[in-house]
Amino acid sequence: MIHPEHQRRAYLQAMGIDVWLPHDAADVDTAGAGCADVEPAESLDWPELRERVAACARCELSKSRTQTVFGVGNPAADWMIIGEAPGADEDRRGEPFVGRAGQMLNEMLRAIGQSRESVFIANILKCRPPNNRDPQPAEAAACRDYLRQQIALVKPNIILAVGKIAAQNLLGSDEPVGRMRGRQHDLDGIPLVVTYHPAYLLRSPSQKRKSWSDLCLASRLATA
Ligand code: URA
Repeated sequence: MIHPEHQRRAYLQAMGIDVWLPHDAADVDTAGAGCADVEPAESLDWPELRERVAACARCELSKSRTQTVFGVGNPAADWMIIGEAPGADEDRRGEPFVGRAGQMLNEMLRAIGQSRESVFIANILKCRPPNNRDPQPAEAAACRDYLRQQIALVKPNIILAVGKIAAQNLLGSDEPVGRMRGRQHDLDGIPLVVTYHPAYLLRSPSQKRKSWSDLCLASRLATA
C-alpha cells in the first residue's frame, strides 16, 4: 500500500525527487559452470536451501568470500528485489544491500510503502566477486538455481530487478537497462520490472524520476 501523501512526499524528497511531480530465464547450466557440486537446489525447503548455499563451493568465489549472502526479508513476500552481488559490506555482514546502495534501496522501498522486512531481497550471486568486479557468466550460472528456488519458495507477485546484471541475467538479455526499464517483463509467469541499481542512482540522481516511475509500475502490477 502507498503511504499517505505527506509520508510519500518525505520519502520522495529523501530520494532527491522533486515532490511537485505529480521470457523466461535462461536455463540453468550448472554443469557448464565447472561445478564441483551440481546437486540441484530445486525442491529444497528454506532451511535446506540456506544450508546448501552456506556450504556452496560451486565456483571459485567460495574461496575468497567471508561468508555467503543468502538474502533477507519476508519468506512469503509480495515483492522480491533482486540485485547483483554482495559487495564488501555485504560480505562482512552476511546481508544484502547494507552499504550506501542499501540505504538508497531502503528509501526506494519506503517510497512505495514497503520495507526490508516486508519484501525479500536477494542477489544474482551469493558470494562477493573480488574487487567488486562484475559477476562472470559461469558464476551467475552456478548460482542460478539457488535464486530460482528462492523465487519458487517466495512466490512473489512482483519481481523488481535492480541494475543491468540482475536484469540481464534474469531475462537472458543483453539489452541495456535504459531499454528494459519502464515496461512489464515476465519471469516464469511472474511480472518483472527492471529499474536502475541504487548505486547508479546515487551517482546519477537525475535518473531517480525514471526509477520512481518504474516503482509505480511495479506497485500497480503487484496488486493487479
Ligand atoms: N549491490 C547489490 O547489487 N547487491 C548487494 O547486496 C549490495 C550492493
